[in-house]
Amino acid sequence: MNKVTRRSFVKNIGLGVGSAAILPTLVSFENSSLLSSIPYTGKKINIALCGLGRYANILAAGLQETEFCSLAGIITGTPEKAKNWKDKYQIPEENIYNYENFDEISKNKAIDLVYVVLPNGMHKEFTIRAAKAGKHVIVEKPMANTAAECKQMIDACNKAGVQLAVGYRLHYEPHHLEIQRLGQEKIFGPVRHIEASLGYNIKGMPADDWHFNKALSGGGVLMNLGVYCVQINRYVLGEEPVSVTAQFSPKTKPELFSEVEENISWQLNFPSGAVGTSTAASNCRADRFYAAAEQGFFELSPAMGYGPFKGRTSKKEFNFPVINQQAIQMDGISKVILDGNKLPNHISGEEGLKDMRIIDAIYKAAETGKKINLI
Ligand code: NDP
Repeated sequence: MNKVTRRSFVKNIGLGVGSAAILPTLVSFENSSLLSSIPYTGKKINIALCGLGRYANILAAGLQETEFCSLAGIITGTPEKAKNWKDKYQIPEENIYNYENFDEISKNKAIDLVYVVLPNGMHKEFTIRAAKAGKHVIVEKPMANTAAECKQMIDACNKAGVQLAVGYRLHYEPHHLEIQRLGQEKIFGPVRHIEASLGYNIKGMPADDWHFNKALSGGGVLMNLGVYCVQINRYVLGEEPVSVTAQFSPKTKPELFSEVEENISWQLNFPSGAVGTSTAASNCRADRFYAAAEQGFFELSPAMGYGPFKGRTSKKEFNFPVINQQAIQMDGISKVILDGNKLPNHISGEEGLKDMRIIDAIYKAAETGKKINLI
């Protein structure tokens, strides 16, 4: 499978490479504003990554493949990383901050946007500080520890007049645009049932990792991986759930998971009558999406990682080239901002808030054993 850059992906589509199956994706792709017809002036959105951990490294690599944004600054609490990143990415000294002097970024005209890639429990504070400094924000998923925190973040960005996006990389991914089309346009009739599960084996993760710390993580694997399953249900159906039931599984490593859940399963009920069942797991690998519709099915497996994905419907297989999801996502967001437009709802802070409301309800349902209504 070829790995293509954003540039070559767009070029390939323009050249008509690929089968008819790619065309519906192209339509959605254009709708995402990524390929806006407004002429490109050459200006880029200068991004500062905040928190230089595992995912920031992947984003930095993605930024090397972008056209509408660049890696211009960093915010880190680790001086050795500041030096290494400065050398590796030629970051000017004046664009390097730590968590204490971060607010001085307000005076720095060379930074347009702060990308918050910190532990979940720090998202709210740093999003609000970035907004007060007059910078646009992308915040990683899950948007915050709770829906109440998400609201404060949205309010702060609105008040400051800056845009707020959530790092939902799959919203730009062709297989995911295709399953949105298949579901929302009812290509196989109404979808009645969705199964979406994601799991990894945390074997080897140190006991002091923030993922096990409730204050820093907001919760366990539901926060980390389950948010993708919640999203996929919502965007395939194009509906918001009306109620939820949920169950924690017994812990297989209680010594690690003393503060947060290890595995959790839940069921979302939608207004059309569709039901979405999901499991997020920390002790087994799972990566699958399956939609059963009245006249057929469609599925992805693998479904929610960085690709390659494998798609299949009751009629045929469908596969698109592997793209750099992070590059496409950051370019997509940057282009909208450069064009002076408002970010589309599906990647905005409002979208993160919708997911967190559902996640809050899933936890409440698992804790109480009761069905929780969302309307
Ligand atoms: P890491 O633990 O690898 O990195 C987090 C970084 O945050 C640290 O390296 C550190 O950077 C900084 N930090 C500041 N304070 C703390 C603290 N008290 N404890 C730990 N780290 C601290 O986490 P990830 O990169 O895996 O995750 C960061 C965010 O990105 C999370 O919200 C996660 O959900 C999200 N994510 C998203 C993915 C996606 O596919 N969209 C994939 C993976 C993660 P420094 O040393 O520079 O201060």
